[in-house]
Amino acid sequence: MKQPIVWMVITIFALNTPTYVCAQEENMVRKKTTKDKLSTYHKKRNFKKTAEPEGKVKKRASKQCLFVIQEHAASHLHFDFRLEVDGVLKSWAIPKGPSLDPAIKRLAVETEDHPMEYAQFEGIIPKGQYGGGTVMVWDIGTYENVKEEHDISMEQSYEEGRIEVILHGKKLHGAFALIHTHRPNDKGRQWIFFKLDDEYASKKKNPVNTQKKSALTDRTMTQIKKEEIGRTEWNSK
Ligand code: MN
Repeated sequence: MKQPIVWMVITIFALNTPTYVCAQEENMVRKKTTKDKLSTYHKKRNFKKTAEPEGKVKKRASKQCLFVIQEHAASHLHFDFRLEVDGVLKSWAIPKGPSLDPAIKRLAVETEDHPMEYAQFEGIIPKGQYGGGTVMVWDIGTYENVKEEHDISMEQSYEEGRIEVILHGKKLHGAFALIHTHRPNDKGRQWIFFKLDDEYASKKKNPVNTQKKSALTDRTMTQIKKEEIGRTEWNSK
């Protein structure tokens, strides 16, 4: 039976709902406990020596799903791409960083889940500590799960190895995909990261090379290193 008024109310409600509410699986029983989810992250670091946040799994999702890309001058320079999924930051190290050209597929190596607090971390990880080197918040913002319209959650997309997101960053905009290069449930950590074709795609623009300052503090890697090194060395003694 058709009830136009009911549908109208539902439609108005839907239109007023923010487009990116960070979806949390209400009925999904966490496969891992709060402690387990970040255990790899915690094991790799000595928080008496590094200024990185210890952090914990957020019990409730924030209103908007967060993404961050951190430029990280460790033994090899790379860009860490992180997406908020179910209370933690799912993370991938992208050696060459993002490209705006849909034809260019970038290797993205999955790394351990990071705490939400990590999204604001910018500074120096002391030499000899895990990932020692300068970290800059290269881009930060919110994202939308493209597959939400088909009722596919981020958790499910991750498990299936096919993630599609629309980024609303300070530098990056539009749709990107992360595809696991192995079959679902495979333990392989290699994914590919690439721009999906939309109005933000470009074969000419290369923000990794042209936008070299922090999205948080407007500092270059060199400035961050210079300003933070004294503090970090002092802290680690
Ligand atoms: Mn890194």
